[in-house]
Amino acid sequence: MKGKAGRSIAAIGDVRAAVLRFCAEQLSRRLDTKPVEDVHQKVSACVQQVDPTMTPYIFGSTAVLGVHEQGSDVDFVCLSPADVQDGKGADAVSEVAKGLQSGFLFRLSEVVKREHYLWDIELVRRTRVPVLRVKGGLGADGVSFDVTANRRNGVRNSALLRAYFTQCPEARWLSMLVKQWSKKTGLNASVDGGCITSYGWNIMVVYYLLRRKLVKLVPVESCDVANIAPMPPYMPLETPQQDGQALAVMLMDFVNYYLDEFTPETEVMSLTRAAGETTKEMLSWTKQAEDMARIRGERIHYRWCIEDPYEFDLNVGRNVTPFKLMLLRKHLERAQETALLLLA
Ligand code: ATP
Ligand code: MG
Ligand code: MG
Repeated sequence: MKGKAGRSIAAIGDVRAAVLRFCAEQLSRRLDTKPVEDVHQKVSACVQQVDPTMTPYIFGSTAVLGVHEQGSDVDFVCLSPADVQDGKGADAVSEVAKGLQSGFLFRLSEVVKREHYLWDIELVRRTRVPVLRVKGGLGADGVSFDVTANRRNGVRNSALLRAYFTQCPEARWLSMLVKQWSKKTGLNASVDGGCITSYGWNIMVVYYLLRRKLVKLVPVESCDVANIAPMPPYMPLETPQQDGQALAVMLMDFVNYYLDEFTPETEVMSLTRAAGETTKEMLSWTKQAEDMARIRGERIHYRWCIEDPYEFDLNVGRNVTPFKLMLLRKHLERAQETALLLLA
């Protein structure tokens, strides 16, 4: 079948069969959150030794999808009682705050080294958010994880995404399909040379669902850390309804939306306002802002704009350069032909 601009489009019957194969394969794997619970317990024991008032919260994919996928890392953030109580508060971004977070993570790294000498750990202070990275392998029970401190935004944005994905049974599958494709194509920032994190892809999925009115807007303010569990409950996945027909249609429509309907020149993917209402102009995400950032020594691009729902003035798609945008388009074109490489 041919689509716009004469491009080949996968036949929906083939897409449906491929999507069902993908889901069956996932369902045959272990997806429960027990391995994450085990790591959570070990991290909690170490945190307890550094500061017994701090609690490690889980966010990222385990919280968003309610399952633990092989190959996904686990994201932890240690929060103080004050952080939790003020669960809608904005995260501090000052150098002083970053210094305090690094200090805590350093003390934690010393305890972790002592208690789990086989774990491969690295404290990274120079990033936007200081983070303690622990690499999987036999030592860390096969699970890799990141620990940050005193930042609520990850817990809030994960709860927000979860509130969207639980509205529509196909949404979680779509998120998993898109993430896997983004990692295979190298577009995912977890791959060398990649540019959009899984978090960014998830916002893109939700923005698409909002545009199509397949989910209802969840007010960003409704996510309050004070009402969120430190270890989010497991949500088993189910075989898609209607023999995968709705999911197959949604998958192809997602690709089609970003290829032919979304207007990256003016539009911003945002979960803050009604879908379709946020423009680059409104946020001053312009060429001039890119130039100003360069003068400050930062490389920020406003070519593919994804507004962070909780972090002020942060483009989650900031690493999408003009060249990467071209690559993204090429991969989307190929995705239309191959149903996100499922038929490749
Ligand atoms: P994966 O299974 O690939 O680990 P994930 O769902 O855990 O996927 P990540 O991309 O690891 O998603 O994101 C985890 C958290 O890191 C997010 O909830 C968010 O708070 C933060 N984050 C990730 N990417 C960005 C970004 N580009 N800008 C700001 N924060 C980000
Ligand atoms: Mg993660
Ligand atoms: Mg991570």
